[in-house]
Amino acid sequence: MKNRTVANITQSEHLSMGNTEVKQPLPTMRVEQVDPFLLLHHFGPTTVEPGGDPLDVGPHPHRGFEPVTFLYSGGIRHKDSRGNEGILRGGDVQWMTAGRGIIHSERASREFLEKGGTMEGIQLWVNLPQKDKMAQPNYQDIKSAGIPELTESEGKARLRLVAGQYKGHKGPARTFTSILALQAEFGSGGYVEIELPEHFNALLYILNGELQLNENFSYQGETMIHFKNDGEGFSLRARADSRALILAGAPIGEPVAQWGPYVMNSQTEIMEAMRDYQMGKMGVYID
Ligand code: MN
Repeated sequence: MKNRTVANITQSEHLSMGNTEVKQPLPTMRVEQVDPFLLLHHFGPTTVEPGGDPLDVGPHPHRGFEPVTFLYSGGIRHKDSRGNEGILRGGDVQWMTAGRGIIHSERASREFLEKGGTMEGIQLWVNLPQKDKMAQPNYQDIKSAGIPELTESEGKARLRLVAGQYKGHKGPARTFTSILALQAEFGSGGYVEIELPEHFNALLYILNGELQLNENFSYQGETMIHFKNDGEGFSLRARADSRALILAGAPIGEPVAQWGPYVMNSQTEIMEAMRDYQMGKMGVYID
C-alpha cells in the first residue's frame, strides 16, 4: 500500500458553547474545509451532577447540509419543527439531513438529567451537493448495535463502520455523496492499515491518546490530520489507548457560501434561507 502524506495538521481551537467546552479542528484559519466536510466539533468530555445539562442548545435552524452527531457517552434529546423527537445514547449516531430547512434543539436526555454523568461527542457538518441542498429534511437514528464493528490487530484495534464501504462491509448510514466514516478505538499497540479510494479527500481526528502515522511521526489527542490525495491509505499504530474518527469522501467541488447555520452555493441562496426562516418556511418549533 502506498501511504498518503500529510497536507495539513491542525490543533483544535477551544471554544465554549453553552455549558461545555468544544474543540474545533475544522474549520481553522488554515483549513476552510476538507470537501465535503465543513466543520468538526468535539464536545466534552464534560461530567455533571444530576440536573446538569452540558449541551442545552436551544432551537436553531439549518439548511443545505447534514449535521451528524457521534455520541460517545451521555444522552441527548433531539426535537424539531417537524414534530420529530429522538434520543441518542452513548455509541449512537444521528445522521440528519437538514436539506431545505429545519429548526431543532439538542439537549441532555431526561435519563441523563436524572442520573448526571459524562457527555462527550462529535458533531460533524457534511456538505450536500447543489442538487440535494433542498432535499426533504430527514433523520437516520443509528443505534450503536446497528453499527458493524471490524476487529484487527488481535482486538487492539476496533473500527466501527458508520457510513460507506470498507473491506467488504457496509455502514448503515445512507449518504448523498460517497462517504466513509469510521470510528476507531485502539488499545496501546493496536495497528491498522486504512485503505481509501485515491480520489476521496480524507482526514483523521484524534480524540485522545497518541497515534503514530505511517510508522513515522506520532500525534496526540485533539489533533486533525488532513491528507493529500497521493496514496491508497495510511497506517496507524497506537502508542496509548486512543480514539479517532476517520472521515473520507468524494469531493463535491462546488462553491461554498456559509453564514451561521446555512451552507449554500451563493450569497443569494443564503439571503433566501434567512428570509425563509423568518417567514416560518422551516416550520415552527414548539418546546
Ligand atoms: Mn444543530
